[in-house]
Amino acid sequence: KHLRELSITDSMTGLFNRRYFEERFLEEIHRSSQHNLFFSLVILDIDDFKLFNDTEGHLSGDELLKAIANIAKECLRITDVIARFGGEEFAVIMPQTDKEEAFLVSERIRNSVKKLLPKTWHVFPREYLTVSIGIASYPADGIERKELIRNADKALYRAKIEGKDRTIVWSI
Ligand code: GH3
Ligand code: MG
Ligand code: MG
Repeated sequence: KHLRELSITDSMTGLFNRRYFEERFLEEIHRSSQHNLFFSLVILDIDDFKLFNDTEGHLSGDELLKAIANIAKECLRITDVIARFGGEEFAVIMPQTDKEEAFLVSERIRNSVKKLLPKTWHVFPREYLTVSIGIASYPADGIERKELIRNADKALYRAKIEGKDRTIVWSI
């Protein structure tokens, strides 16, 4: 059991790892298509994290990643699956959750990070550490893996170019 846990966990944050996420994501698509359900995919990316590392050091950056992972986890329901998707990116599968609901949960995460994260930095020139979030939903924004990830990513990109520190729901 311990070995199984290790093999699906990201050792830094304690969240699920990318491999497990991909497995669960395909399962969720399958389950939703079989039972006519919907779900949402949420991708979260830390704002200006390179600057944070450059000004505060990578070790402080690591601590921040862990703290954000914990805050995000606290905002979710037990059925949600949160994973470390990339270096400073997290992905969440929200089963049976439509866009509107996924937006509300995402905003809760974004606001909690902003409010709850203690200001431990000295050089990083920001009052708050913020995150940007993109959302795509099954089946409205895609019925297969690649398409859903691409559209959540595009929504996230939009959040970045519109000024960061926001959640964008994918729409054409
Ligand atoms: P943006 O607001 O557009 O997202 O800018 P950004 O600086 O956050 O994005 P960019 O992709 O330029 O940089 C991501 C940074 O995340 C660079 C990389 O060093 C850092 N990073 C990725 N994984 C880790 C990690 O495990 N620990 C630390 N400390 N930094 C990490
Ligand atoms: Mg990134
Ligand atoms: Mg970033």
